[in-house]
Amino acid sequence: MLEHNREVAKDMNTDDLSALIENSPDRSWVSSASCGDIGLERLDLFFVDAGRTLSSEAMAICRFCEVRRDCLQHAYANEIAGGYFGGVSPVKRRTLDLDAAMAVIEDEPGSTA
Ligand code: SF4
Repeated sequence: MLEHNREVAKDMNTDDLSALIENSPDRSWVSSASCGDIGLERLDLFFVDAGRTLSSEAMAICRFCEVRRDCLQHAYANEIAGGYFGGVSPVKRRTLDLDAAMAVIEDEPGSTA
């Protein structure tokens, strides 16, 4: 299942992501998302090509987002392979389980997670 979702995620765009979030049964946190203010058309800030790191602008948005933990949980619960969720890269999510990823964001200097 996870491998299947990884294949699907390779072709995922921001419209797909928006639909995935909006169709999620636990999306109450979305209304408090810091990235919600930047507009869906700029969600590509959170989807970077392999080998590149997230922009400092996007990292700052995630670091101080009050629903960062919910966002990260959402990515794990829905096995979303692409994009930065909770400010955690897809590569890092593949190598860490949810608890370890939560510990990483909680330990970041200045993090509100
Ligand atoms: S953690 Fe980042 S990607 Fe997730 S909702 Fe907050 S700002 Fe958006």
